[in-house]
Amino acid sequence: MKKRILTGDRPTGQLHLGHYVGSLKNRIEMQHSHEQFVMIADAQALTDNYDHPEKIRSNIFEVMLDYLAVGIDPSKSTIFIQSQIPQLFELTFYFLNMVTYNRLKHNPTVKMEMQQKGMEETVTAGFMIYPVSQAADIALFGGEVIPVGADQMPIIEQTNEIVRRFNSVYHTDVLKEAQPLLSLCPRLPGADGKAKMSKSLGNALTLSASFKEIEEVVKKMYTDPAHLRVEDPGRVEGNVVFTYLDAFDPDLNRVKELKDHYQRGGLGDMTLKRHLMQVLENCVAPFRENRERLKQNPQMVLDLLQEGTSRAKKEGQRKLEEIKDAMRINYRLDHFSTMR
Ligand code: ATP
Ligand code: MG
Repeated sequence: MKKRILTGDRPTGQLHLGHYVGSLKNRIEMQHSHEQFVMIADAQALTDNYDHPEKIRSNIFEVMLDYLAVGIDPSKSTIFIQSQIPQLFELTFYFLNMVTYNRLKHNPTVKMEMQQKGMEETVTAGFMIYPVSQAADIALFGGEVIPVGADQMPIIEQTNEIVRRFNSVYHTDVLKEAQPLLSLCPRLPGADGKAKMSKSLGNALTLSASFKEIEEVVKKMYTDPAHLRVEDPGRVEGNVVFTYLDAFDPDLNRVKELKDHYQRGGLGDMTLKRHLMQVLENCVAPFRENRERLKQNPQMVLDLLQEGTSRAKKEGQRKLEEIKDAMRINYRLDHFSTMR
């Protein structure tokens, strides 16, 4: 039997190059050998955007366009909208009993995001518990392999703690633990050199960026501040241009030669950056064209989303029944008298 994948993205904006190398590339390859569910996590996105539902609403379509444009194939992968699967929210409620309040407060990903988003004092209960809802996403769809970026590792760990606790409390093996799958570039830095390219940090290059946008971003990229003259030897470590070449240039030998040349001296920053611009353009151009074409037919895109969501709903319903059986709470009111 094919192993299950559950992955997804928050529709807070168009997808970017970090998503591509961190997770999408793996999903595109693995959809042939695995049974893949891809979730547009609109409910999770609301936990820190609840006052802008229109932003999340419109980005559902944008993320769907991105998925199709990069090659997530809806005949191989089930693409669905999280908020349309009520079983996820029921399971989240049961899962909340499987984790202590203290443990949630100390989740490193949540702590870091709270700090980044300046909400240490104002964090809502909804945001604090999003790792529990993510555990429900994974468990309801039986996710065994989770292609994610490095920032998600503590969330998978938290999921597995919940799964183990659940199975032990209810003496069952109905839930499976999940394995994170990191890509070769699990954390693409922002073009500004910041630790992570991210929609909310405003340092992202989208998967439909124009060549002009690519040029502007790469021009400003951080290299080696001590590399002043072309003939000077330069540093490769910590040089964002090389980090991007490692992630995007399919010609590994060429990257090695460029690194050697840069370290020897004689390779100017602008020549190097011109090369990166072309590499990024080669990656993004087909996505940009596919996206334009798909945009001409919005009804087809929405129909595909509708189909995937219906499939996911059936699967969610089936699995929730199984889980409630294991918890022995799958009673029906008309049988209530015989149940006591
Ligand atoms: P937001 O700021 O709204 O949280 P994000 O850019 O962090 O947006 P998510 O939707 O949270 O994106 O992440 C979706 C998936 O993409 C996750 O698996 C995450 O680890 C991965 N990912 C996001 N940014 C990067 C990055 N810069 N490098 C590698 N993987 C990434
Ligand atoms: Mg994120």
